[in-house]
Amino acid sequence: MNENSMKNICLLTNDVETTSIVNGGLRTETGIKVWKEGMPRLLELYARYDAKATFFFIADFAKDFPEIVKMIQPYGHEVACHGYTHDHRQAFDVMSLEEQVKHLSDAKKILEDISGEEVISFRAPALRVNEFTPQALVETGFKIDSSVAPQRIDMFMSLGSKKKLAWLKAPRTPYFVDDENLARRGDLQLLEVPVSSFAVPYIGTFMRIAPSINALTRRLLYLETRNTVKPINFLIHPNELIEEENLQLKTERRAGNVVSYLLSDVLRRRLKQKNLGLKARDLYEKEIFYWRRKNYKFQTMKDLLTNQSIL
Ligand SMILES: [Zn+2]
Repeated sequence: MNENSMKNICLLTNDVETTSIVNGGLRTETGIKVWKEGMPRLLELYARYDAKATFFFIADFAKDFPEIVKMIQPYGHEVACHGYTHDHRQAFDVMSLEEQVKHLSDAKKILEDISGEEVISFRAPALRVNEFTPQALVETGFKIDSSVAPQRIDMFMSLGSKKKLAWLKAPRTPYFVDDENLARRGDLQLLEVPVSSFAVPYIGTFMRIAPSINALTRRLLYLETRNTVKPINFLIHPNELIEEENLQLKTERRAGNVVSYLLSDVLRRRLKQKNLGLKARDLYEKEIFYWRRKNYKFQTMKDLLTNQSIL
């Protein structure tokens, strides 16, 4: 690992999808708002700080609205893959190797056809992966994964939590992965770039739910990364930067039992609605401003690998 190339780097990573935070579930109407409002707000913000970022697109959404991919390209941002669909019934942790390979190759082709660029970076929807994911990614030509968040304690707050316990032991700096476990070091030619966390995840959702705790996380991460080779990897969604009407739809029940349903589906959805839209943008600008003031460089995932000179 070329250690110097990882120093003072901040990766601003964006998961582009049709998930409605206010109404729950995947909605085309939300996707259109993401395209028309969320994306322009992000692009404007990044341009103001001359920041290069990475956008992970859901491919079936990009296929319907290819402009959402093309609009980032003039800025030099990276086109990356967030899977074929965000449908939780087809999450990567419930798919076989063959199914994952099919999803990944279809998604990669769609995004490459739209962008004319090679797509090499991946993040699994809801960060759900299993033992087949490393091999499926390598087989389909991906070189970077960002589906692991070390030392992040989700428990009841997210789906697939039991499997995510493996994250507690995952390395905190970028590493090449094990062929059966993205959360473990190995010699597969797939670079894992973990999402930053310090017990709590360093992501848009948490930034909005608890801005003051997030400010502490940010400070701790700064101290941690100042003398190490760990890049900052902040995860946000353009659907956090839109305002949507609450259509009073019922929360879709995804969790199996009642307790888990109340904790993870109902509570989660309520909390997640804090500080959306322009408020999210203003909070996010504070994050970007902080790293800019500390002289961190905003670059893409692909840049990180290129600078390792192994591409
Ligand atoms: Zn997602």
